[in-house]
Order: sequence, then C-alpha cells, then structure tokens
Amino acid sequence: MTDSRSDAPRGIPRVQLPGDARLDTLAVREGLPPSAWGENSEALFLTSSFVQPDAATAARRFANEEDAFIYSRFTNPTVTMFERRLAALEGAEACVGTASGMSAILLLGMGLLKTGDHVICSRSVFGSTIRLFAGEFGKFGVETTFVSQTDPDEWRRALKPNTKLLFAESPTNPLTEVCDIRALSAIAKDAGAWLAVDNCFCSPALQRPMAYGADLVIHSGTKYLDGQGRVIAGALCASEQLVNDKFTPVMRSAGMSLSAFNAWVVLKGLETLSIRMEAQSARALQLGAWLETQEQVERVFYPGLKSHPQHALAMAQQSAGGAVVSFIVRGQAEGGPALARSNAFHVIDSTQICSITANLGDTKTTITHPSSTSHGRMTEEQREAAGITQGVIRVAMGLDHIEDIKADLLRGFSTLSQ
Ligand SMILES: *Cc1c(COP(=O)(O)O)cnc(C)c1O
Repeated sequence: MTDSRSDAPRGIPRVQLPGDARLDTLAVREGLPPSAWGENSEALFLTSSFVQPDAATAARRFANEEDAFIYSRFTNPTVTMFERRLAALEGAEACVGTASGMSAILLLGMGLLKTGDHVICSRSVFGSTIRLFAGEFGKFGVETTFVSQTDPDEWRRALKPNTKLLFAESPTNPLTEVCDIRALSAIAKDAGAWLAVDNCFCSPALQRPMAYGADLVIHSGTKYLDGQGRVIAGALCASEQLVNDKFTPVMRSAGMSLSAFNAWVVLKGLETLSIRMEAQSARALQLGAWLETQEQVERVFYPGLKSHPQHALAMAQQSAGGAVVSFIVRGQAEGGPALARSNAFHVIDSTQICSITANLGDTKTTITHPSSTSHGRMTEEQREAAGITQGVIRVAMGLDHIEDIKADLLRGFSTLSQ
C-alpha cells in the first residue's frame, strides 16, 4: 500500500511515524502529535475558537498566510486528526470532515459545480443523493442525467460537452449492485470530468476507489466509520489542491462542519474499522449462503456470492463482500405485491434480536423493509424498475453471532402461512 502522508510543508505538524508505516498502524495512530500533556488517546478539543498570540499573527492566520487553528467551523484539531486518518486509509492526499454524508455531497457540488454544468449519476445511488442532485442542484441550473449502475456504455453515451462530474456508489443500497470504478474513471478522464465515488458500503477497509482512478471519495461517517451507530458524520476525500482551492473555502463560508465531538467518535471508530469490516463481511457471507438454502427466500443479493450478477467484478474491486445482505421473501408470485409485503413484514416483526431500523453500519444487526422506509418516497413504478419490490428485506449484518441471526430470521420463515 502506498503511503499517502503528504510531505508538503504545513504549519500544523503530524504525529511522528516512520514513512513506511502500514495502513493498520495509520488507522490507530495517524493524526496530530499529542498535546503538551502527552495523552495516548486522542484529545477531544471542544472549543469553538482558538486564542491567537497577538494581533499580527491573527491577521496572518486569517489571511491564510500561516496554517493554524482559528475557529472550529473550518479548523479544529480533533477534526483534523479524523481527516488525516481517513485520508491515509483512502490513499487520498487530503480530506474534509462534514456534518453528515449528505453534506459531504453538498460540499462536493458547491465546490465543483456551477449553473450550466452537467452531472452523470447512477440511478441506483442513495435516495437522498438522487434528490440532492435532481432537486436541490437542479434549482441552481445544474442538470443531472441518471444512468445504469452496471453498464458503463450508458455513462459514455450520456456525456455532454458540459459534463463536469460523474457520481457513483458501489455497492448500492439495498440490492448491492456493483459498478466498474476503473471503467467509469476512464470515461471521466476522456471527458475531462471528475469521478466521485460514495464508498459508504465498503469503507476503505474493503475498497479504495482512488486506486481505481476515482478523483473524489464520499463518506457517510454515520455508517461503518463510526461503526456503532452513535453519530451523524461525513467526509470528502480529494487531492490537496482540490481541498485547498475548492472545498475549504466553501466550508469556511457555508459551514457544513463536522463537530469536534462527532469527529472524535468517528476517529476512534476508524481504529477498529478493518477488523469490524472483516468480521461483519464474514458473517454476511455466511448469512447470504444460508438464505440461499431457505425455501421461503426467492433470491439473495450479496456481492460475495457466486449468484451475484457482478460477483467477479466485486471480488476484483473489493477485498470482501461487505456487511449488507438483501433478499426477496416469497409471496409476489402467489399473491402479488400485497402478499410479498405482508410476508416481509411478518419476517421482520418475528425477529427478536435484529434492530428494526433503516440505519446500517452498526455492530448491532439491523433489518429493514426498503420499499416502505428508505425507498418509500419513490413511486411503485420507480421501485419496480429498480428491483426494490415489496418482498425485499435488507439485513445489515453486525457482530451478533451468526447462528442467533439465522434463528431470528427462521422465526418468521417457519411461521409464514403457505
Ligand atoms: C447513509 C448514506 C448517505 C448519507 O449519509 P448521512 O450521514 O446519513 O447524511 C450517503 N450515501 C450512502 C450510500 C449512505 O448509505
């Protein structure tokens, strides 16, 4: 793995580590040096502003002539530690922490786009992302074309002279469709556009989009980076130049800032990210394979299974399948969408362990019915087209024992009316 720690002379020092320190080490140590007290666990700097030594120094710092902490809307040591650590894991030069995953995408758009620009986006991305591009950016005269998650030719055909950004997410929610990041990067480069990838489902522990040519990586820190369902957080990884020229100025004036407290929680989450992702992926693979043997299950969606349509691509691009497994419970064929929905509700309501919540990325296994929750704002036709039918159930595997989760689902499978 390459060492992404920038050697650029910056006013804010780095923690002293050998230049060849590996990712596992960076995940627990990258950041800032300890304060004067020599704390081993990173400090939480809950302060809105920073005292300046004198007026002339303050003036230089406010004018960006000298790097220092000024005001926590755009500079805070705890947030900087999180940014440096995540950048190291993603193989990015730099990173900006944001208040949420959605505000990372807002920052992306505000930093890179202007009226008259065109965006190409997969139609399978997170629902709020679709609404942000089509609705909010649309209001400011940015046009977005939505294309197939899996067919790069559709992306190429959608290019226009004013295309500035390609936006992808892989795997997607809830059906775990995988896109070919390398192919999309080639299309973006030919067109002189940027490629941004939402890496929420894999995290850098399983997939590093920049290694396949992505220019920008988006994170919802709310999910696996925290990993324990505690805070809302986000991040945008990019080159040092894009961060300095395009994103920090927007952060400074628009203020979608990551709070120091939330940064601290997510920073500590990064320390266990890779072992959590490995353990949760292993359980998810076992769950997916077991679900494929269940009579009440029509189909399973999991990138780590041979039955997944993009299995080979997923296994080339990711080091494991991730923790999200979706499946279709039977019902549609016999009783249409109404029976499929009541069967799905029955399976969900029969669980005694799984948390019924649309969040994912928690150590507690969660279960949800996408078509009535996360994808409830789509029309039935849109859902049919996307394959998110009434029988689909999504399980985001946590660290619960796999046998307990199988038994939990079996409670519903074994009592479904025939
Ligand atoms: C949750 C999620 C987001 C949004 O993140 P928030 O932190 O909830 O704002 C964006 N993309 C994906 C893939 C997500 O799962």
